[in-house]
Amino acid sequence: MAKFEFFRSSQISTDCDQCGGRVDLLKGGVCSLCRRILCYRDLHGSWLRRLLTDLGTPVVCVQCRTRPASTPHDRLIDG
Ligand SMILES: [Zn+2]
Ligand SMILES: [Zn+2]
Repeated sequence: MAKFEFFRSSQISTDCDQCGGRVDLLKGGVCSLCRRILCYRDLHGSWLRRLLTDLGTPVVCVQCRTRPASTPHDRLIDG
């Protein structure tokens, strides 16, 4: 099961889907809407957002947050 190898690894890092930079999964992560793996900057954008996710707010990346709600998005999880 290759997909779990990724999480098992002690070297938890991968490439950001947005900027192609290295993602530290302790800081960055996966957007709950678009399911992309993003670095801290592209996922949270600010320390405040990071704090909110620590408090249980669903992780939504910068791009999903700036995208107008009316824009069709077939990968939204509810629907
Ligand atoms: Zn990035
Ligand atoms: Zn997103």
